[in-house]
Amino acid sequence: MSQVPPVPDLSDAAVVRAIAGIRPCRHGGLRLETERVSRGARTKTVIHNYGHGGCGVTLALGCAQAAADLVVREVGAGAPVAVLGAGVVGLSTAVELSARGHGVTVYASEAGPATTSGIAGAIWLPTGLDFPEPGPERDRLNALLRRSDELLRACDGERWGIETLPVYEPAGAPFESHLFESGAVELPTEIAELPVGASRGPGKTYESLFMHTPRFLRTLDDLLRSQGDPIVERRFAGLDEVLALEEPVAVNCLALGSRELFGDDAMYPARGVLVHLRPQPLGYVVHDGYRYMFPRNDALVLGGTFEPGVDNPTPPDETVREILAHHRRFFGLTADAGSPQPAR
Ligand SMILES: Cc1cc2nc3c(=O)[nH]c(=O)nc-3n(C[C@H](O)[C@H](O)[C@H](O)COP(=O)(O)OP(=O)(O)OC[C@H]3O[C@@H](n4cnc5c(N)ncnc54)[C@H](O)[C@@H]3O)c2cc1C
Repeated sequence: MSQVPPVPDLSDAAVVRAIAGIRPCRHGGLRLETERVSRGARTKTVIHNYGHGGCGVTLALGCAQAAADLVVREVGAGAPVAVLGAGVVGLSTAVELSARGHGVTVYASEAGPATTSGIAGAIWLPTGLDFPEPGPERDRLNALLRRSDELLRACDGERWGIETLPVYEPAGAPFESHLFESGAVELPTEIAELPVGASRGPGKTYESLFMHTPRFLRTLDDLLRSQGDPIVERRFAGLDEVLALEEPVAVNCLALGSRELFGDDAMYPARGVLVHLRPQPLGYVVHDGYRYMFPRNDALVLGGTFEPGVDNPTPPDETVREILAHHRRFFGLTADAGSPQPAR
């Protein structure tokens, strides 16, 4: 007999904190290409790898390989490389370059858990990302998604904090077919009765990878340090400072920082408010657009919002209350304290 999935403790006593992260979104989708950047007498080859929106953890490993391929094409194997940014995209790129024998120096104002990447859940799904129109660019994105999925599945799950979890979506959850078009995740199956939630109504289910980002980022950091590649704490105030770096090639993984430093006006922030509760190993994900519940190792994460144009990192009290009330309603708990509804 299959086990009944546990009901989470969503009481006030279980609430640890509310936080907000700012997704690095880009009109037209992510940017993964080479640019020769010049100012005055200074020139540098820059490989851009940014604009991953709401799915940077999903895409990081595949994009890291693609960016490393561009580096090799530009400067050959083994040349020293500067990686700008130490979120999941920068660290993944640095680890990939290091594994290919390049001397890598990572420059970033913040690293690993202190970045937006440390806030992500993270479920494997290409959400919060502009998909190009059908054609070669779209095919390339889907190939990157498949490659990222393969690379994540090849990792030691225990070491990297990666597992496969069932995802439950209640009826009425938004369905976006392009999220599944790469084929890396199977299309959701309709079920007559969700095994979670108070209503036990109809819904959908599928399986997806889930990355416990704190452990994932720690493993990237460990790998880099074990190979002797430094992470230098540094904030770039302008492009001149990037061009003055001694490495002949730089990989730009500065996410939203690309707007100011590289003048990319297609970049825009999209705030995501989350509520963290004490960790609870539920073994499943509830997904209803941005109203999701992720059982991260360090916290039960309740989402959330997707607020384009908002970059204020303070979570509004009203939004936090609304997120808690939404999830409590779903599980049939009282809206204020999250205790079981009294029987009528
Ligand atoms: C609430 C929320 C939930 C999410 N959930 C998921 C999910 O379930 N699945 C998923 O795949 N993704 C998820 N994401 C998206 C994911 O977090 C991002 O796509 C990802 O973190 C982007 O990684 P990055 O390395 O490009 O950027 P960041 O993590 O933002 O790193 C940028 C780096 O650039 C550095 N930097 C920027 N400007 C400068 C400068 N001027 N000088 C020096 N350094 C600079 C920063 O210090 C940092 O090191 C979520 C995001 C949020 C906010």
